[in-house]
Amino acid sequence: MTTTAALLDDLAAAAAGDLVTDPEVLASYERDQAAPALVPAGRPAAVIRPRTTQEVQQAVKAAARHKVPVVPRGAGSGLSGGANAIDGCLVVSLERMTDIAEIDGPSMLATVQPGLVNAQLREAAGREGLFYAPDPASWEFSTIGGNIATNAGGLCCVKYGVTRDALLGLEVVTADGRAVRIGRRARKGVAGYDLASLFCGSEGTLGIVTEATMRLIPPPRSSATLAASFPSLGSAGHAIAKIVRNSTPSVLELMDRTTIQAVERMAPQGLDEEVAVLVFARSDLGGAAALREVDQLAKWCEEAGATLAVTTDEEAEGRMLMAARRLAYSALEHQGATLLDDVGVPLGQIPALLDGIEAVAERHGVLIGTFGHAGDGNMHPTIVFDQHDPEAVARANAAFAELVRLALGLGGTVSGEHGVGLLKRDFLPLELGEAHSLNHAIKHALDPHGLFNPGKAI
Ligand SMILES: Cc1cc2nc3c(=O)[nH]c(=O)nc-3n(C[C@H](O)[C@H](O)[C@H](O)COP(=O)(O)OP(=O)(O)OC[C@H]3O[C@@H](n4cnc5c(N)ncnc54)[C@H](O)[C@@H]3O)c2cc1C
Repeated sequence: MTTTAALLDDLAAAAAGDLVTDPEVLASYERDQAAPALVPAGRPAAVIRPRTTQEVQQAVKAAARHKVPVVPRGAGSGLSGGANAIDGCLVVSLERMTDIAEIDGPSMLATVQPGLVNAQLREAAGREGLFYAPDPASWEFSTIGGNIATNAGGLCCVKYGVTRDALLGLEVVTADGRAVRIGRRARKGVAGYDLASLFCGSEGTLGIVTEATMRLIPPPRSSATLAASFPSLGSAGHAIAKIVRNSTPSVLELMDRTTIQAVERMAPQGLDEEVAVLVFARSDLGGAAALREVDQLAKWCEEAGATLAVTTDEEAEGRMLMAARRLAYSALEHQGATLLDDVGVPLGQIPALLDGIEAVAERHGVLIGTFGHAGDGNMHPTIVFDQHDPEAVARANAAFAELVRLALGLGGTVSGEHGVGLLKRDFLPLELGEAHSLNHAIKHALDPHGLFNPGKAI
């Protein structure tokens, strides 16, 4: 009997959830949203869709018995190949584990299964007068388990933090099939190593998250919005530095000229295509306080050299001002195949990063549009190329590698939020240095036989 046949028999006998073996359906579990030109994907032996922790345990034990690698999967919206299948693996899809076990209003926390979509947690928290803050742009379809496994960020992370900042406790299924609780329900707590934080961002390499207790906060008040145009990268950089040192906007984003032009080409917003950078900010302090805050930001922008700074406390107008930023990635995608990067640099290095990106684009003769989270120093330089021209693909790949090295050279990171997965794995030793072996030691201690997502993330 083949390994796959033995695994399938075992999974069926163990009743580990809904088992998928139809090749056409399996094909839809092969990849996440990372560019196929950059990351490989294999063919899974099977996909299992459990509904309970016990079923996940059964699936993990069966895979371990047959030495079959396990690839955990949420919505498959990842951008680094983290959820890509490995030939002959078992994909454990958490998509059916969508229950909300509790929203505890007085303790301001929610306990949910990992397949719950981010937007559904937001909605449920909202019904109790509370707010779940982490807001990746994929919030309408990505799962809480996937958000935890990638430590996802988003627009309002500049004020409210990334997923890890909202994480209190987890239940995880480990490589030996145990279901273990880590972290806590209390807001503060220092007992033991911080294992919940360790699992957050571990990209499915240490175990499977089967339940999560997340912190909720009071809902933000109404927002006011700023959009400011800058004639140079340096002037925008100075404004951003002043803003982050002196205020707490709930959003602080930017996009460069190439991106502005792409947006205007796809869906004209009346933007000035000659400005070097557009900066967007929001304040959610409510009413007059919010408008006062963005008016102050506008003043700092003008002092730094902004040619135009517009503010509004009208929600509809604010949404219109932000619309261009929200269109950034789709507008670049509209121009050709894209390689989306997500490097991060220390705040003071944002102008140097933007300068460097321009130089990389010129050196490799590629189009790079940059937008991103200015308040976090996390940028998305996006290479636009012709995927049918092998020479253009080679230039795009070379430019991509140079962007990552550029960020590292500025004291930054290879990934600010999308994760290492398969996409950034070759660059990881450059960032981690000696710490790379500590990562491997942790992996070995928790998953000695390399069961979970082998070859990814570390
Ligand atoms: C249009 C678009 C916009 C995006 N915007 C953002 C953004 O603003 N910020 C951001 O950070 N990301 C963004 N992303 C990337 C992606 O949505 C996030 O990485 C998200 O957190 C992945 O969630 P998922 O449920 O799709 O996980 P998947 O893609 O299925 O998995 C991601 C990783 O987590 C692991 N994993 C999944 N579930 C579990 C689990 N229960 N236990 C253990 N490991 C698990 C997988 O093995 C994989 O390594 C965007 C993606 C798209 C397509």
